[in-house]
Amino acid sequence: MDIHEHQAKEILAGFGVPVPRGGVAYSPEQAGYRARELGGEAWVVKAQIHSGGRGEAGGVKLCKTEEEVRDYAATLFGKQLVTKQTGAAGKGVYRLWVEEASDIQQELYLGFVLDRKSERIMIVASSHGGMEIEDLAEKDPDSLRRMIIDPAVGLAGYQARELAFALGLSGGQIAQMVNVLNACYRAYRDLDAFMVEINPLVIRASGDLVALDAKMSFDTNALYRRPDVAALRDPSQEDPREAMAADHGLAYVGLDGDIGCIINGAGLAMATMDMIKLAGGEPANFLDIGGGASPERVCTAFRTVLSDPNVGVILVNIFAGINRCDWIANGVIQAYRDIGLDLPVIVRLAGTNVQEGKALLETSGLPIIATDTLAEAAEAAVSLRRQNAAA
Ligand code: GDP
Ligand code: MN
Repeated sequence: MDIHEHQAKEILAGFGVPVPRGGVAYSPEQAGYRARELGGEAWVVKAQIHSGGRGEAGGVKLCKTEEEVRDYAATLFGKQLVTKQTGAAGKGVYRLWVEEASDIQQELYLGFVLDRKSERIMIVASSHGGMEIEDLAEKDPDSLRRMIIDPAVGLAGYQARELAFALGLSGGQIAQMVNVLNACYRAYRDLDAFMVEINPLVIRASGDLVALDAKMSFDTNALYRRPDVAALRDPSQEDPREAMAADHGLAYVGLDGDIGCIINGAGLAMATMDMIKLAGGEPANFLDIGGGASPERVCTAFRTVLSDPNVGVILVNIFAGINRCDWIANGVIQAYRDIGLDLPVIVRLAGTNVQEGKALLETSGLPIIATDTLAEAAEAAVSLRRQNAAA
């Protein structure tokens, strides 16, 4: 789960990372008010969206008057900001961050990531910050420093100092950098983060280090024990289809095709997507309804899949171990009645109570196509989709 820059700054500041003073604004007037409240002669107005690359996309601006702050804010609110990372749809701007402008002497890069190879937290740093890490890795790979943290020891003092020296810092900056590194490491570890990135970490004209940008993302599977982090979720920044699924505890990933999928088990869902492709079709989504799916849950799964306007046919594939085929069949029938479904539905059932499940579908009088194998189901879905797309 991603959070906004202002939220990441607040969290990191709580762990001891120096950040510029600033405030959130939900309207142009409030943005102007924030600038006045902060005082000074220049402010940076920053669109809060779950994406980097805002600077290049026109989502970050240095303003010299309160009026300029207000005017620029007015152009941002409600806009779909398209950056290199958002895709063509962009992300909606519904809040801004107004902060005191910093006089930048140098931009550094600092990131904490999970290194899957060493199974450890890894620090990545560079004395050439400001650009995205991917560009940095391509254009200036030699400037990158990497350091692995041993979880039994934590970030050792000598490691932090070594990194500070490698970045060319000197004097009091060394101690400041060690402090920033320790704070980021603790935030990462204590909050079940996946990523902490400060890009750029700047050296101000005064010589002091400050986090000019901040990004954090968290392990969704650990959110149950991090209620304060979970509360920072912003559904306006998510794919609406995925947000709806997450609200109902369904594992859903939106895709570009037109065959909606309702499946139990991640492995079976992947296999089903492969079979659809093999039959010449394109899945509209990945959806794992999990074990023990009640009729209500199946109904919710239908609503989620149907919230995607591209869906032209639905394929339900259930291998019932913990699940029961009759539950699923009841769920499909209920979905037909409650939602007033008018798309073809292909159902392949196998496992516990399969006879009962099939009997329910047959006697329902609904136009449900039941198949015995996954291959048949995939072929039926693809050919029905072709027929109704042509019609
Ligand atoms: P991103 O493009 O989404 O990563 O947004 P950033 O917060 O990193 O801002 C992009 C760029 O705007 C930074 O790399 C800086 O060059 C510039 N910038 C941001 N804040 C300030 C500031 O206070 N003063 C100055 N001079 N430039 C800033
Ligand atoms: Mn940045």
